[in-house]
Amino acid sequence: MYKAIVINKTEAEGYTAHQMDLDDGDLPEGDVTVKVAYSTLNYKDGLAITGKGPVVRKFPMVPGIDLAGTVMSSTHADFKVGDAVLLNGWGVGEGHPGGLAQKARLKGDWLVPLPVAFKPEQAMAIGTAGYTAMLCVMALERQGVTPDKGEILVTGAAGGVGSVAVAILAKLGYTVVASTGRPSEGEYLKTLGAAEIVDRAQFSEPGRPLGKERWAGAVDTVGSHTLANVCATTKYRGVVTCCGLAQGMDFPATVAPFILRGVTLVGIDSVMAPKADRLAAWSRLATDLDVSKLELITHQIGLSEAIDTADELMAGKIRGRVVVDVN
Ligand code: NDP
Repeated sequence: MYKAIVINKTEAEGYTAHQMDLDDGDLPEGDVTVKVAYSTLNYKDGLAITGKGPVVRKFPMVPGIDLAGTVMSSTHADFKVGDAVLLNGWGVGEGHPGGLAQKARLKGDWLVPLPVAFKPEQAMAIGTAGYTAMLCVMALERQGVTPDKGEILVTGAAGGVGSVAVAILAKLGYTVVASTGRPSEGEYLKTLGAAEIVDRAQFSEPGRPLGKERWAGAVDTVGSHTLANVCATTKYRGVVTCCGLAQGMDFPATVAPFILRGVTLVGIDSVMAPKADRLAAWSRLATDLDVSKLELITHQIGLSEAIDTADELMAGKIRGRVVVDVN
């Protein structure tokens, strides 16, 4: 038997999430079975557990888009019993039972060896949120945004993606401006390396097609009017990476920033990113993220607290990252 969070949707009970005991017969198809040590709560896990977004595609479902653990059995050529592994995305926790459980069975092709730089709990402190932040930073670099080009704006800065993005960019020498709706987290964001804190309210309402040019680059985790206003205030030939929808899925913008200022908008997807990009991002995280900052960013909970904490995450009350010790 193993413990897991199980989401279900039935006519009798509606949408539910409970901690339950499952047995090996409940494990799905897959060529690698992993004893999970830690999982995490990302925004998407919050949507899945609370039912606030149509994330789960099959019921019953074990949520958890991230996991770190040890291989228990494998018929995959790249993995053997005892290997330390991690997983981010690939639809796990959405259409295939995920990491908020003591055991998971997966496709070996989805797994990444745990980087030697990280303990399993540190890899989960980074999780999909941190790996996505790294993908955003790598996209800025690819588009030629170097620290000398000017300020980089991070929106949703006190959240998971935002916190890790602030820490990485600051370590790489960028001048980071952190946008948050929580002024009380200003000191926290400065400790992570933000040079300035701005109120997210200045981005969240409908704005003009073009505003005063300020940002050389941006990591936007928020979408909607915020993304539109960020694009409208990005400097000539600046670059905006778009990865999130915490404010909304819409993008009520004009083409003005793109056709008059040559702004580039780069979409970032972590879920189906090819393995080579994942390995590159995890290798960069090992060198470009100060692990001592992870302690500040993260707090740890037990599996039994995951459901209540998902509500808090959806209410925007969680700072940084949540690691779940599933055992
Ligand atoms: P968190 O919940 O940890 O952080 C989201 C942050 O967004 C909050 O902390 C808050 O920051 C801000 N925010 C929340 N609600 C609003 C609002 N109504 N208006 C403006 N800002 C708001 O989530 P994550 O960091 O885990 O994820 C951030 C986003 O990125 C999510 O939309 C998630 O789905 C997406 N994502 C996408 C991935 C991809 O592959 N493209 C991968 C990972 C995440 P503050 O309090 O500082 O204002």
